[in-house]
Amino acid sequence: MADNHHKVLIIGSGPAGWTAAIYAARANLSPLVIQGTQPGGQLTITTDVENFPGFPEGIMGPELMEKFQAQAERFGTRVVYDTVNEVDLSKRPFRIMADEGVYTADTLIVATGASAKWIGLESEQKLMGHGVSSCATCDGAFFRGKEVIVVGGGDTAMEEANFLTRFCSKVVVVHRRDSLRASKIMQERAFANPKIEFIWDSAIEEIIGAKETGVTSVKLKNLKTGEVKGFATQGVFVAIGHKPNTDIFEGKLELHPNGYLKVTPGGVSTNVKGVFGCGDVMDHHYRQAITAAGTGCMAAMDAEKFLEAEEAALATSV
Ligand SMILES: Cc1cc2nc3c(=O)[nH]c(=O)nc-3n(C[C@H](O)[C@H](O)[C@H](O)COP(=O)(O)OP(=O)(O)OC[C@H]3O[C@@H](n4cnc5c(N)ncnc54)[C@H](O)[C@@H]3O)c2cc1C
Repeated sequence: MADNHHKVLIIGSGPAGWTAAIYAARANLSPLVIQGTQPGGQLTITTDVENFPGFPEGIMGPELMEKFQAQAERFGTRVVYDTVNEVDLSKRPFRIMADEGVYTADTLIVATGASAKWIGLESEQKLMGHGVSSCATCDGAFFRGKEVIVVGGGDTAMEEANFLTRFCSKVVVVHRRDSLRASKIMQERAFANPKIEFIWDSAIEEIIGAKETGVTSVKLKNLKTGEVKGFATQGVFVAIGHKPNTDIFEGKLELHPNGYLKVTPGGVSTNVKGVFGCGDVMDHHYRQAITAAGTGCMAAMDAEKFLEAEEAALATSV
């Protein structure tokens, strides 16, 4: 049990968690990273990453995350493959209950990320990173001169569609209903864009393609008539939302109404002293590896300062 106590415990092994670990380890705090069911985080389900600084030729997502981990381990980060089910943050040390046991910690860094919502098709999983994406900012440039589909009818879908018209020759929005949920201004912008077309009352039943060729077409079902037809396209962007991984923090940490972790504006402190949040779990706006890494750095530096201030207070009280 004593072995399971840590000055800094980090939940999550995406860009935010590993960066927090690099900084905490280099500050001699021997952090523990609990990796969760997706070691390396969201970038492990993509192929080329071209916008992470320092890799002018681009780098594959899984390889980038291996480098993050190696750098964190080089300075003494301990890593466990475990998943947290419950936390007790009512007193310190914090108690972190996971599949493999209970951990205690003086400070906690929450880097549990967010998960893109997917349609739920087998073909979608198979072609992820090979023509299927959930991030236009990340992958739009790979579709220069191509025709793509955006799935969704909310603000995110309209934003993605508009952004993709910078690269793509045509963007077809496929939506389940006959009107959009997006705000009026986003709708107007999309309707006014000559490169955007709409297919209403429809859902994708299957995405057709191969890893070698990418996406070549989809099977579209008209939800009103039941008719299924093939539709040629070279890419599918799923824009039906994201879910922050905060279920285990409900009632323990303050969350926004949309479920994202609440942190101090411009900072990374949560409402519980000694608990910090970083990466996509607290950022529904940027959702990029570099911003996740940036806030991971902030969380580790703030955890270090927090521990230092506490030690100093203890020293003056004796
Ligand atoms: C298909 C795709 C392509 C992308 N491409 C790019 C790109 O090219 N460039 C870019 O900058 N960004 C890209 N992104 C976005 C980028 O991946 C995210 O912004 C980034 O990964 C967020 O990092 P994070 O550390 O906050 O969280 P994540 O990467 O989501 O990692 C979360 C971690 O938390 C762990 N975890 C969750 N719950 C628990 C739990 N209960 N117990 C223990 N561990 C837990 C998970 O196992 C995981 O390790 C892409 C995203 C996707 C989905």
